[in-house]
Amino acid sequence: MTSRSSEPRFICDRMAGSLCKFLRLLGYDTLNANDLPLGNLKEDTTLLRNAEKENRILLTRDAELSRRDQNLVRYLSGERLDDQIRQLVRTGLVKPDLRLTRCSVCNNQLVPVSATTLSKYLNENPDIFPGSSSDDEKITWCRHCKKAYWEGSHTRKMREQIHQICFLSDD
Ligand SMILES: [Zn+2]
Repeated sequence: MTSRSSEPRFICDRMAGSLCKFLRLLGYDTLNANDLPLGNLKEDTTLLRNAEKENRILLTRDAELSRRDQNLVRYLSGERLDDQIRQLVRTGLVKPDLRLTRCSVCNNQLVPVSATTLSKYLNENPDIFPGSSSDDEKITWCRHCKKAYWEGSHTRKMREQIHQICFLSDD
């Protein structure tokens, strides 16, 4: 747990919402500018201030914003998610390990949940369906949004994808 303090934390601007979700799945503490109220004309300044206050790196596609503070901001040179992931991994900012320790929706830490608790919750809340799960897997969930996470074919596929993006394709 102590190692986490040295780990980078991020804020993604509104143009990097997909990257935000992805970084959370990798386990990085990442805030999303899309969670801020709309209509703030000085949102860039707010983002810079929050990044400084909370010791976060601001990730943006906005070249002008990135020039305002080169210590706090990283300019994302690619438009595609793949390119952005590759950039962060190749510059050593992010490790390409899918850790599943954090909720991709709200950034909260995931906690273990027993299959019994989970199925009880699903019975009481039939409108929420987090997908199917096998009961012998270790299941974690987000207490806040009740989204469940577990290892399976979907995570295997994602790891292959990450490997492909970071180590195999070269464009
Ligand atoms: Zn959540």
